[in-house]
Amino acid sequence: MAKKKFELTAVDIYPQVMNIYGDRGNIIYFKYRCALYGISVKTFDVSFGTADEPPIKDEADIFFMGGGQDAEQALIYGDFIKNKKSVLADALENNKIMLAICGSYQLMCDYYKTSSGKIIRGISFFKGFTESKTPRLKGNIAVKADNPEGAVLVGFENHGGRTYLEKGQKTIGTVLKGAGNNGEDKSEGARTGNFFGTYLHGSLLPKNFVFCDYLIDIALRNRYGISLDGIIKINGVTINNEFEILARKDIAELKKFV
Ligand code: GLN
Repeated sequence: MAKKKFELTAVDIYPQVMNIYGDRGNIIYFKYRCALYGISVKTFDVSFGTADEPPIKDEADIFFMGGGQDAEQALIYGDFIKNKKSVLADALENNKIMLAICGSYQLMCDYYKTSSGKIIRGISFFKGFTESKTPRLKGNIAVKADNPEGAVLVGFENHGGRTYLEKGQKTIGTVLKGAGNNGEDKSEGARTGNFFGTYLHGSLLPKNFVFCDYLIDIALRNRYGISLDGIIKINGVTINNEFEILARKDIAELKKFV
């Protein structure tokens, strides 16, 4: 019997500017992993300019936006507010997914106070603020995820910004090793609807295939009303995670958490 065709659309926003420590790997791995399940993914890069049309408007199932230092954040800021904010607000409202890393995550909170003391207003999808302080928080990080519950996420962080979330703002999880949002309260990242902000570079998704599957599952439920397990049954696939697991175990400092 012919396999049913499943197709998703993924959009990387400002990949030429917002992409450090391999963040581009997130969309690459998302597409690769979907292909293993027999799901094809159309990918698009969206840069400066209006976004009031597909693929960013209405079509995208998932958005990616990588990290960037203060200079890159300043570079995209005007366009982000003018051309991307409202279309992303609609996407959030419609349960679409977004994965925003580090500098992008900061722009999605209430504000970011840079190392030179300048306040950059964010778009408040996540309730909380970020202030730059020294020393930078850098190194390998392990996080016990809220979703999928108990999964251990691993990654690499390097940020001067400390993010303090409002009480009640959902997080990505609890820091096991490393700094996360601020190095003080053990919180890491933020989640509103299906929008995720995190300090984990890595790239995040190739290092955390369980979290990638979690995002694929949400995208499939949104578009087809069917779970990833359902697709696995329909398409009769078996996945071998041997290399992904080896990559996780290879991070010496995090060995005891994975
Ligand atoms: N400029 C931000 C900071 O240092 C973001 C850095 C990043 O994206 N890695 O806090």
